[in-house]
Amino acid sequence: MQPETNRQPLSLYLHIPFCRHRCGYCDFNTYAGLEDLMPAYTDALIAEAEWLAAAAGERLPVHTIFLGGGTPSLLPLEAMQRLLGALHAAYDVAADAEISLEANPGTLSPEYLAGLRAAGFNRISLGVQSASPHELLVLEREHDFVDVVNSVKWARQAGFDNLNLDWIFGLPGQSLASWQRNLELAVGLAPEHLSLYALSIEHGTPFKELDGRGLLALPDGDAAAEMYELADRMLADGGFVQYEISNWAKPGADGQPRACRHNLQYWRNLPYAGLGAGAHGFLAGHRTANVLAPAAYIKRMRDAGAATAAASGLPRTPATASAEPVDARREMGETMMMGLRLVREGVSQAGFAQRFGSTLEQVYGRSITALQRRGLLETASGALRLTHQGRLLGNQVFMEFV
Ligand code: SF4
Repeated sequence: MQPETNRQPLSLYLHIPFCRHRCGYCDFNTYAGLEDLMPAYTDALIAEAEWLAAAAGERLPVHTIFLGGGTPSLLPLEAMQRLLGALHAAYDVAADAEISLEANPGTLSPEYLAGLRAAGFNRISLGVQSASPHELLVLEREHDFVDVVNSVKWARQAGFDNLNLDWIFGLPGQSLASWQRNLELAVGLAPEHLSLYALSIEHGTPFKELDGRGLLALPDGDAAAEMYELADRMLADGGFVQYEISNWAKPGADGQPRACRHNLQYWRNLPYAGLGAGAHGFLAGHRTANVLAPAAYIKRMRDAGAATAAASGLPRTPATASAEPVDARREMGETMMMGLRLVREGVSQAGFAQRFGSTLEQVYGRSITALQRRGLLETASGALRLTHQGRLLGNQVFMEFV
């Protein structure tokens, strides 16, 4: 079973649900035109962080903090300083904690980046998505590639030595040649980390409707697989190491890829608190989800005061909409599905047995054997992991562990 939260370092995810414009493909919990709520929302986030810390009854150790969205880089510097100050006051944030911010190129300036660095952020994740003006237009993104080049330059000048760039492939009308050009430019920017995601068409988005009317001209599955294979080759040539299905990193001083430590917490199925509107968490053996609407979130935290936090216990806060207990079987399945995404590390046989008191063989022997026969799983260095073919057919593997 999941070890108790207070015996291992925690990760904190803070959701910032504001965007200047809603992109046609996006199904995240984010809103355009609610910027007026930012000051009250920042207060509510701080109140929720403090509530959780008080509910724990002890100072929780924290080793990663991630501000995601939405567009966190729309928050003013003063709000960032207050947020990080409150987290440091309420938690034992490790001296070497990874503190990341998602940012949109076009929302950044040299002064803002210098201010973020001074406030304590040490990793920036830029939502680039594409370098092609046409593809950015299709995605309804508001920046251009010059904004990206400037953002990287300014981040370096501000002292950030850990940069991620997010890219999307399989875009409407995208050719393999265009994707190759995108990859050349991505490598040319010399980030420490690259995340490459296949475009997925989500329910309730304008893209879903366009796709339903046959208007998106999406590359077919074979073309998307070819794009993925091309990335695999080009990024390896560029000095990147793939460590997760969609993530590559350059080796750091210790020779290991500079993985996103915050996301490793998810993939290793370890505890994290999700703070903010619509944020999800995995805390004290529960999967939690907060109320979605920013105004409702603010109201809940405002109405709660601080009176009963200490008595409420983990994992609930006044913003919690649901908190489902996770039984051992579900936790094992989630550990497999997320751990197998780590293409080098995989799921440790010894680690699994220690965590759950049963071996992989005892719990999943039949499925593992079948997947090994199909060439999708392999055992290496005491861990079960996807083969090269398994990476392309990951969903078929994960289904076996649901
Ligand atoms: S900027 Fe990002 S979070 Fe905001 S709407 Fe576009 S894709 Fe979604």
